[in-house]
Amino acid sequence: MTHAFSSGCPCCLPSNGLSRRQFLCTTAAGVAAAPALASGVIGAAEAAPRTQAARPILIKGGCVLSLDRAVGDFEKADVLIEGKKISAVRPNISAPNAQVIDATNRIVMPGFVDTHRHMWQGFLRNVLPDGSLEDYRNVVQRTFGAKMVPDDVYAADLISALGAIDSGVTCILDWSHIQNSPAHSDACIKGLQESGVRAVFAYGAGQNENGRVMEIPTAKYPGDIGRLRKQYFSSDDQLITLYLAALGGTPEATLSQFKAAREVGARITIHVGVGEFGRNALLEKLDAEKGLKDDTTYIHCCTLNDTEWKLIRDTGGTVSIASYVETLMGHGNPPVQKAIDTGIRPSLSVDVETSVPNDFFTQMRTVFSLQKNEVWARRLAGDKNPPKFLTVREVLEFATIEGARANGLDKKIGSLTPGKDADVIMLRTDTLNVMPMNNAVGAVVTSMTARNVDTVMIAGKIMKRNGVLVGVDMNRVARLGREAQARNYKNANVPDKRV
Ligand SMILES: [Zn+2]
Repeated sequence: MTHAFSSGCPCCLPSNGLSRRQFLCTTAAGVAAAPALASGVIGAAEAAPRTQAARPILIKGGCVLSLDRAVGDFEKADVLIEGKKISAVRPNISAPNAQVIDATNRIVMPGFVDTHRHMWQGFLRNVLPDGSLEDYRNVVQRTFGAKMVPDDVYAADLISALGAIDSGVTCILDWSHIQNSPAHSDACIKGLQESGVRAVFAYGAGQNENGRVMEIPTAKYPGDIGRLRKQYFSSDDQLITLYLAALGGTPEATLSQFKAAREVGARITIHVGVGEFGRNALLEKLDAEKGLKDDTTYIHCCTLNDTEWKLIRDTGGTVSIASYVETLMGHGNPPVQKAIDTGIRPSLSVDVETSVPNDFFTQMRTVFSLQKNEVWARRLAGDKNPPKFLTVREVLEFATIEGARANGLDKKIGSLTPGKDADVIMLRTDTLNVMPMNNAVGAVVTSMTARNVDTVMIAGKIMKRNGVLVGVDMNRVARLGREAQARNYKNANVPDKRV
């Protein structure tokens, strides 16, 4: 390893305004005297524990977007949280015992929900900025992925999860196809648990150099899902829940993976309709064997045929669109309008941090602009009956409640509804990119960035406050990332260069 993030290299200093000397002093002397650093910055360590508040929490005086049409939105209202749950959303709540969080100049809304991200790539961020899908398979999966050891995937999942929380994503489906051994699964789950994120662990196959991943002798896919169910997921009422990440392949192989999931009561997530290969009418073949049910999320869906789209709708499936990566890598046209035309409200996903930023603002803006561009193009081409334009409100629903539905958690999260778990974010409206605010939903969808994420709560626990992650030792996280990166580059025999 030459220098990635090394404190000895001036070009890798944290972008927090500290000089190198100040940075080194800070890291050497410990954090007690450190100046306040932005969240997610090396050198920032927050000692405050993330404990469940003993007293209720009253978020007071924010602009509340509940994303629950029955609860509505408020120019100014309060959110009362007792233990893990939201107990009230309305103006002027009186709760004398509560710890008050001032939400002046804040939008208060449910956290974003990502329905598909390969978190084992957490320390390979932007490693492949110019790559196609084929490049991704060769570099990320068959080169780096094939050589990952459990300690690597632990660090990757931890880093990816903390990055998600930092950007306001409170629930994330970890599409984890790095299970070269049961120890890899254990390591991923450990990383997720430690991060505190609400996660769906979607247990998948492994990676190897030739792509024939069903032939990895140490992997026990999909059978090890039975052990995972017993060891980690005996209850569905916990912060991390279990899915099967179905590898697909032939209809017979896919059906046998689906069977393994259903035998342990796990929902299913599967990539379909990806590029030319996705035109294989797999869903029609699975349907002929009665394999399609309402327990499945279909990812990408770019090159599915019309019959397959109707099958997803008619069997109650959910859809995850990773529009940004689909435009970059050749999956096919992101099917935003196709989903709407079929009567399916899609969820959104980041997919790969190797090419895609980890925040949901990018995802929302991409589907918004793609759909509007498609409608405008049809108008310009003389279409007299073009589809309606998507609204920012609909896009925000895709990013929250529709994500919760696809992750099997819509009864628990996805909106600020009394009785649901308190997965809440507060977004600053007094920053230069959005102030003075004119339209709350418009501000979130069209203009905000992770910089606006001020406070994040997951199941009532405060994970980020005043723009800083709580209870995270960033020096340790950075060290884990550096070590995993160096080890994986070495094991994969990849030249150690960053520019
Ligand atoms: Zn994917």
